Amino acid sequence: MLITNIKGLVGLHPKDKSVLRGSELDSLPTLENAWLLIENGLIKDFGKMDSIPSQISNRSSQISAEGRYIFPSWCDSHTHIVFAAPREEEFAMKIQGKSYEEIAAAGGGILNSASKLQKASEDELFESASVRLNQMILQGTGAVEIKSGYGLTAESEIKMLRVIRRLKDQFPVPIKATFLAAHAYPAEFKNNHQGYIDLIINEMLPQIAAEKLADYIDVFCEKRFFSIEETDQVLKAGAKYGLKPKVHANQLSVSGAVEVSVQNKAVSVDHLEERNEETIQTLRNADTIVTLLPSCSFYLGIPFADAKSFIKADLPVALATDYNPGSTPSGNMNFVVSLGCIKMKMVPEQAINAATLNGAAAMELSDDYGSITIGKKANLFITKPMPSIAYLPYSFGETQIETVILNGEIYNG
Ligand SMILES: [Zn+2]
Repeated sequence: MLITNIKGLVGLHPKDKSVLRGSELDSLPTLENAWLLIENGLIKDFGKMDSIPSQISNRSSQISAEGRYIFPSWCDSHTHIVFAAPREEEFAMKIQGKSYEEIAAAGGGILNSASKLQKASEDELFESASVRLNQMILQGTGAVEIKSGYGLTAESEIKMLRVIRRLKDQFPVPIKATFLAAHAYPAEFKNNHQGYIDLIINEMLPQIAAEKLADYIDVFCEKRFFSIEETDQVLKAGAKYGLKPKVHANQLSVSGAVEVSVQNKAVSVDHLEERNEETIQTLRNADTIVTLLPSCSFYLGIPFADAKSFIKADLPVALATDYNPGSTPSGNMNFVVSLGCIKMKMVPEQAINAATLNGAAAMELSDDYGSITIGKKANLFITKPMPSIAYLPYSFGETQIETVILNGEIYNG
């Protein structure tokens, strides 16, 4: 496939640049008036239209992208898209001012999702998650991480992870699976936290490892959820099976979650709506990626993470959706990029880099995804005619994506 007359080919990072830290996020290398050649699902070559070699310009399979930009696909490194039912009944409670913690305390929240998921069949879960994933892909996402965590029993956590594996097998996007049994304490373990942790460590982890169902391990490290010590236990147990941590940290408070995650060599710490100087100091000495989830802040009405302070401290910042039924019922990365700009004051270049190459890095996929680079997978999207790159996040709520290409083929859903 040859794409010609591209107004701007966006995100041309060199092959050896696997993650962007601090001020590196400011630069989004772009080639204007370009062509792009895709072969065997990979980016084969690109250049300027005025110097296109004749043996390339004579090719028959051509798309003209006049007036249009090509972006690398969004890389959404934090989602919970396997769930049994939406939770719009909590929507009104939220509007009336009930906090996330109050809704959880009233028996809503994660436990509500868990009881519905436990009753749903693997096929039902696969069908509904497929609809969500398809929608996300049509909105430009070309790599995704998906967590368990609404099972909360060995049987149901494994059921969720098997659904994620089926999604991996059936969709043309790379998917990373994260084991998140430590998402909430089931009611029967409310007063016996160690009993549930023992269940995770002694029953769930060995089965998950035997079936190779997970790539990462996650813990919701927060007051009333998992303490620092409990988080540490779960992460260390996961490490024995080769599962690296990706941790829900500092969503509602500065809890020490970042510190325990970094000590356990987390690939990413996610949320960080709350932070202090110590948080930043801890992260400065680590390779851990800071994954921010602005559509969760938007939906819950909690503070937005201070992206600028992380970037100023030379940290690698990624953006992801957190798509889940309770706090972020949206998998739209275009909106996340808009919020990164509008609410977190990232400039468009920073937000786009955070949602592409750094998102890929937060899934350890940046060797093959996250930028327009020769040799990487041809996962990208062609926009509608647009006046500039900034127009994409500027025109929030309106899709600018016209054509999605995965592995070098047009994806129609
Ligand atoms: Zn989450």
